[in-house]
Amino acid sequence: MTEPAISQLQPLPDDWQRALAVVAHPDDLEYGCAAAVASWTDAGREVSYVLATRGEAGIDTLEPARCAALRELEQRASAAVVGVSEVAFLDHGDGVIEYGPALRRDIAAAIRRHRPELVVTLNHRDTWGGTVWNTPDHRAVGRATLDAAGDAGNRWIFPELTEQGLEPWDGVRWVAVAGSSSPTHAVDATAGLERAVRSLLEHRTYIEALTDEDPEAYARTLLTGFAEETGKRFAGVPAVAFELFPR
Ligand SMILES: [Zn+2]
Repeated sequence: MTEPAISQLQPLPDDWQRALAVVAHPDDLEYGCAAAVASWTDAGREVSYVLATRGEAGIDTLEPARCAALRELEQRASAAVVGVSEVAFLDHGDGVIEYGPALRRDIAAAIRRHRPELVVTLNHRDTWGGTVWNTPDHRAVGRATLDAAGDAGNRWIFPELTEQGLEPWDGVRWVAVAGSSSPTHAVDATAGLERAVRSLLEHRTYIEALTDEDPEAYARTLLTGFAEETGKRFAGVPAVAFELFPR
């Protein structure tokens, strides 16, 4: 008997200059795709982050106002580690983000402002694969980001954005979804993996509340494990996987 063929992931296109990553919470990008971001900024590409919330409901022992301020600082520090200097927050409510026109409008505005060719977001599907249920915030932001890539190019869907001076941007060529259970593409994580570990470690308060493990050992084991698992479908090269939606 022969082994079942492992479907190989394709290299993510690299003929682009600007990317915008849109996710729900501080740490969403660091749990998996920061190594790809590091490799992009190494290559001289511009990457900016937009977060729908400040992750204020993420730590049981910390009340939301204090938590928001702390997690914003941690997010800015973790972005800086992988070469990202621009981090914006849309201030939707952590845990109760609603999918709908208001969220699509805020993300479309960010896309018009940054004019990216590549938009990155986190798993918009119901599960992480199998029966591991995804969170409502990730589903809402992922779906709204896929939708907003189109909304950003249409003058008439959110006319108030044009009135604010944000001209339509129809230049998004792909939306790349990290953490998908159906990935199609990957990015070599070799050069960025160590910085990805340090980037995740910047979320120290969150990690310390989450696990009793040594934070650095926790971050390294987790990210190396993800990258090696993806590598099995990427010629053995440690990698970050994405499900790519061309436009
Ligand atoms: Zn999250």
